[in-house]
Amino acid sequence: MAKLKFPNLDEAVAIDIHTHAEEPCGMHNYEMLEVAAENSDVLIPFVSIDPHKGKLGVREARKLIEEFGVKGFKFHPTMQGFYPNDRMAYPLYEAINDGGAIALFHTGQTGVGSGMPGGMGMRLKYSNPMYMDDVAADFPDLKIILAHPSFPWQEEALSVATHKPNVYIDLSGWSPKYFPPILVRYINSILQDKMLFGSDWPVITPDRWMADFAKLEIRDEIRQKVLKANARKLLDI
Ligand SMILES: [Zn+2]
Repeated sequence: MAKLKFPNLDEAVAIDIHTHAEEPCGMHNYEMLEVAAENSDVLIPFVSIDPHKGKLGVREARKLIEEFGVKGFKFHPTMQGFYPNDRMAYPLYEAINDGGAIALFHTGQTGVGSGMPGGMGMRLKYSNPMYMDDVAADFPDLKIILAHPSFPWQEEALSVATHKPNVYIDLSGWSPKYFPPILVRYINSILQDKMLFGSDWPVITPDRWMADFAKLEIRDEIRQKVLKANARKLLDI
């Protein structure tokens, strides 16, 4: 891994919201990379770039992959205010695809802006997983993860992940106690090789998630796939 430098990229944050918020939230990509490098036995770096950044963002994505070993990019269509199938974002997907990295999309409702006037301007529609179906069709080699049980579009997410070989689902953000029955049914059957553990710390701690997952009716050999084998295959580790 290249030696870490700290270029003046104040807009690169945990969810990079260059265009739609006055203030960045969370950690700077490079701060996150530093923490990941210090704990490389347990942390695999994913970063965030707002697709509205255009060519600048594309160049930054290629650099993050080539020089810093970044393995994935998280998009939050609702916070970043874009339809995932907007052609504006395609050059960025191309860069991620070329580098063999993963595109992870927030899906479903979000806690951000919830109960605030106008939901703080957050539009839920952008995070419907059906828009990511277009991305999966246009980039058949790009590895895509739909993050979270996708309320209120759970069936859309299951449908996209069933239909497109390059689409996976992570189970973060919800306690398994509240997983809808159809999600559990798909974990136990046709999507058993595409479901991934995730906690969404600090919202849900890994301990709480694991404890509730243990109580879920999941076949033992599938449990192992969700907790480890599927991610290993996807991340090629
Ligand atoms: Zn999310």
